[in-house]
Amino acid sequence: MIKDIKGLHHITSMASDARQINRFFTDTLGLRRVKKTVNFDDPSVYHLYYGDENGTPGTVMTYFPFPNMMLGRPGVGEVGETQFSVPKGALSFWADRFAAQGVGGVETHTVFGVNRLRFIGPDGDGFALIETADDGRAAWAGEGVSDDVAIRGFSGARFNLHDTAATEELLLFMGYERAEVEGDVTRLVIHGGNGADTIDLVSLPKTPFARQGAGSVHHIAFAVENREKQLEVRRALMETGYQVTPVIDRDYFWAIYFRTPGGILFEIATNAPGFNRDEDTAHLGEALKLPGRYENFRDRIEANLVPLAA
Ligand code: ZN
Repeated sequence: MIKDIKGLHHITSMASDARQINRFFTDTLGLRRVKKTVNFDDPSVYHLYYGDENGTPGTVMTYFPFPNMMLGRPGVGEVGETQFSVPKGALSFWADRFAAQGVGGVETHTVFGVNRLRFIGPDGDGFALIETADDGRAAWAGEGVSDDVAIRGFSGARFNLHDTAATEELLLFMGYERAEVEGDVTRLVIHGGNGADTIDLVSLPKTPFARQGAGSVHHIAFAVENREKQLEVRRALMETGYQVTPVIDRDYFWAIYFRTPGGILFEIATNAPGFNRDEDTAHLGEALKLPGRYENFRDRIEANLVPLAA
């Protein structure tokens, strides 16, 4: 069994409009843009990162905004909901803020005895704020969001699956433990994680498979401390029969990827080196950062991207 996973590292989704998703994460959710770079496999598209002050693993939501991309169709075989942790009592603030800003799909309910506020992003992205009593992570003091209500990072994610058995088996192998079951939701928790510690598996045997597009989660990344642990995890997964990519340099972390039996793309990412590798913490996310191999094409790449608000 794997013992080195520390919870989530980041979640990466797709969007149809860079300015719109940037506004949503900074002005509406009050997170910090911690990196403005390009998709390393397609430099005509941004790769935007949002999180706490430093982009601490477990707080980082990232986007590939493909201009005018078709909306995804939600279904099974994907991450159906990205869950953010907020302090207890914060949901009424967020409900008012979302109403004032025209955020859609807002709905309060309780799962596993905890209050949640569901809402959707600009492309129909499935999100929820989860009240968490003892989340000690520091929040970024975003636009008009005070510390007593601000997002602390991810609490976890919900996977919508045709059948949960094989994905549950994989997560147990990755160090998660089954915590609770309520209706068709099975909650798995990892102990000793970074705060982004829960995965809810939802069994939806009659729902069609998702079609990926804007508003869909592209992949979900789990955190390991360093490259040595990552290689151990890679070896363990391959010995169990998973097809895992070689280690890929993503400048701010090292990544490996594999497709899970339920259809979701998993990544294992290292906590190091982090987002202050190529710019000061005080100015994270302001300048367009490019991987070395694209530096010679900076003018052309920059001319092709829509400017974002600071
Ligand atoms: Zn990733």
